[in-house]
Formats: sequence, structure tokens, C-alpha cells
Amino acid sequence: MKLTSTQHLVLTPFFHRLAAVFSEMDQAYQRASYHYHFHCSGCDENCCLTHFFHHTHLEYFYVLEGIGKTDPYLSTSLYKRARDVHRKSVEAMKQGKGVRLMCPLNQDGLCVIYNHRPMICRMHGIPHELNAPGRKTAYGPGCKAFDIQCGSKPYIPFDRTPFYASMANLENEMKQHLGITEKFKKTIAQMLVE
Ligand code: SF4
Repeated sequence: MKLTSTQHLVLTPFFHRLAAVFSEMDQAYQRASYHYHFHCSGCDENCCLTHFFHHTHLEYFYVLEGIGKTDPYLSTSLYKRARDVHRKSVEAMKQGKGVRLMCPLNQDGLCVIYNHRPMICRMHGIPHELNAPGRKTAYGPGCKAFDIQCGSKPYIPFDRTPFYASMANLENEMKQHLGITEKFKKTIAQMLVE
């Protein structure tokens, strides 16, 4: 699936705003990493093996935009890889097994759409908190590599709430603009095959 030129035109202002939100996320993540002295240099629990679901149409369109910037030979192979990953994921789930398959957009350990990668790919790894209105603060853990390197260090507040709120607002605005009413929940592989 490729964005048409009309879709691209309509979506471009939203992409710019999404890139600004992602930039703030990246800076907050880097600040927290710096304070912990946490360095991600790959590990056997590579987060690109995680069966992540993504929850916004806007991230989906941005992933397509990123793939559209790769050369045609590479993008053809990404879609083929996505079909394989999706088929294996469906088989594993039918058998009640957990899914741990490399994301089809990871090539030789690198994300081929790095600047366009979705939110969870940017935020994963560092302990965090969420402060939903009227609820107690919910804390989430770091990844295994974080625990090994920094697990004994005291928690440094890393609040995902403003980023989730910005993403939700932007998504709602874009859906209204485009007349989209459905919710979104897909893995990267599903995004490329469905
Ligand atoms: S989109 Fe990129 S960073 Fe995210 S899981 Fe796939 S390869 Fe990894």
C-alpha cells in the first residue's frame, strides 16, 4: 500500500506536527537515558522482536510515508517480509503461542524507517509513568537491558502522559479531517499486508 499524491498532500501538515511531537519524545527519552547513563546497543531481547501493536492511523500513514522514501527494490522486499511475518504470527497465535518475530522493517539490526518509526519504538526501554486524569499514577518497567545496566538506580520521572495526549489529539484531528471513524490497532506486519 502506498500513499496517493492526494493523501500525501492532505497528510503533510499532520506529518509535520507528528514529527514535532516525536522530536519532543526523543529529547525526553535522551534526557532520561543520559541521567541513567543507559546505552542501548542491542541485546538478545531486541525490542524489534516484540509483538507491538500501534494505535493510530497517523502512525500508520507515517510508516507508509517512510517506506515510500526507500528505494523500490527495498520496499518490495519489506512488503514480502511483512507477509511472511504476518503469516507466521497468525499461525503462532492459532496455536496459542507467543509471537517473537523480527519486525519486517528491521534490516541487519537497523530500522529502515528510523525517522518514521512509531511512538512505542521511541519510548520502549526506560521506566516510565502515566498520569491519567482521576487515576493513580501507573508505572511501567524498563527493558531487560535497562535492568541489567541501571536496574539498581533510583527511578527518574519519565512521564509519557503529555506525549500520549498530544498523539491522541493529533489523531482525532486528522480522523475528523479525513472522515475516519474506525479505531486502529495493528502490528507493523499487519499495516503492510491488510
Ligand atoms: S518499526 Fe523500526 S524500530 Fe520499530 S520495531 Fe520495526 S524495525 Fe524496530
